[in-house]
Amino acid sequence: MARLEALRARIGDPFEWSSSAKASLLLGITFLLHTQYVLWAHYLLNVPGHEGLVNGDFLRGHLDYFHMLLVTSATLLGFMLLLRRSTGEHRWVEYVATHYYGLSLCYFSFHIGTLSLPTGAVITGAPVVGFILFSHGAVLWALFASLSLLAVLSYASAFGFLPYAPAISGLTENGQLSLFWLTSMFLFTLPHLVVLTALAYYILNRWRRREEEIRTLSMTDPLTGLYNRRSILAHLWYEHERSKRQGPPMAVMMVDLDNFKQINDTWGHPAGDIVLVAAANALRGSLRQNDQVGRFGGEEFLVVLPGADVENAQKLGERCRQAVAELQVDIGDGQVLKVTCSIGLACFEQGLGDESEALIKSADQALYSAKETGRDKVVLWT
Ligand code: GH3
Ligand code: MG
Ligand code: MG
Repeated sequence: MARLEALRARIGDPFEWSSSAKASLLLGITFLLHTQYVLWAHYLLNVPGHEGLVNGDFLRGHLDYFHMLLVTSATLLGFMLLLRRSTGEHRWVEYVATHYYGLSLCYFSFHIGTLSLPTGAVITGAPVVGFILFSHGAVLWALFASLSLLAVLSYASAFGFLPYAPAISGLTENGQLSLFWLTSMFLFTLPHLVVLTALAYYILNRWRRREEEIRTLSMTDPLTGLYNRRSILAHLWYEHERSKRQGPPMAVMMVDLDNFKQINDTWGHPAGDIVLVAAANALRGSLRQNDQVGRFGGEEFLVVLPGADVENAQKLGERCRQAVAELQVDIGDGQVLKVTCSIGLACFEQGLGDESEALIKSADQALYSAKETGRDKVVLWT
C-alpha cells in the first residue's frame, strides 16, 4: 500500500505533467500498439496454417511500412524522452504525438477495415481521454485529421479506388463470420479499451483527490487549521437561515485574545503564533460536535453555535473562556505563557433582525463591552 502511494506520488497529477511528458506517454502507447500489429503480421505470414486467412501478398508488400512506422515511433519516443529533460514548455509536441497516434492508427485500420470494432473504440475513446490530458487544439486537430483520413480511405473503397480491408481474407464465408477474424478484432480492440479506461480512471481519480485538497485548503486557515473567515461566515449564514425557517435557536460568539499585541511585542511574532494556535485548539476542544469555529481576523475568532439558546450560549462561552485562561503555552526555552480572551455573545432568540450580519455586529458590541469592563469575561449582548 505504501509502495503504491509512493508510485502515485512519483507519477503525480498527469494534467500537471509537461507537454513532453504527456507526449512521451502517448508515443509509448503508440509504440506498443504498433509492436502488436507488427508481431501479428509476422505471425500470420510465417506460422503455417494461416494461408487462407490473410492476403499474404498485400501484407508482405506493406511489411516494410509496418517496420518503418515502428522505427518512427521508437525514434519519436526517444526524442520526447530527451526533450523531457530540457526546461521550458513545448506545446507543439502534443500536436506531434496526437497526430502521429491518430494517423498511424488510421493506416493500420485501413488494413483490417475502417468500419471495424477497434477503429470505433479508438474514435470514441481516444478524444475523451485526450481532452482531459492534452491541450484541446492538439486533440481537435488530430481528431479532424484522422477522421478526414478515415473518410477518404472509406469512400475510396466505396468508389473502388482502394480495396476494403485488403489484409483480410475470408472475413465471412457463406454468410458465416470467421471465428479467427472475430477473435482478432476483439484482440485488437482490447489493448485500446484497457489503456483508455485505465488512463481515464487514473486521471479522474487524481482529479477528484486534488479537488478535495483544494476545497479543504480554500476553507481552512493555514495557521490554526480552523475554518477561515469566508467559510465560517458561510456556516453562519446557513445556520441563521435554518433558524429563521425552522425555528431552533442559534447563537454566535466573538472571541478576541486579550492584550495579544503585548505578547508579540515581548516574545516575538513566532511565539505569538504558538499562543494563537494553542488558543484555537482550546476553543475547538471546548465546543460541541456541531459547533463551528473559524478565524475571523488576526486574533479574533467567530464561533457559530447551532441550537443554542441564551443559557446554552452563556455556558459554552464560559467554557471557552476558562479553557483559554487555563492554557500554559510552552513557547520553547522553558518559557510558559498565559493568555486570556474576551467573549461577546449574541443569540438569535434575542430577536436580532433578519440578517446574520446583525448577529455579528451585536456579538462585536458585546465583545467591546467585555474589553471595556476588564477583559477575560463573557458578555451577552443586551
Ligand atoms: P485587546 O485586548 O484590546 O484585544 O488588545 P490586543 O493587543 O489583543 O489588540 P490589538 O488589536 O491592538 O492587537 C492585535 C495583535 O494581534 C496585533 C497583531 O500584530 C497581532 N496579530 C494578528 N494576527 C497575528 C498572527 O497571525 N500572528 C501573530 N503572532 N500576531 C498576530
Ligand atoms: Mg485582542
Ligand atoms: Mg482584535
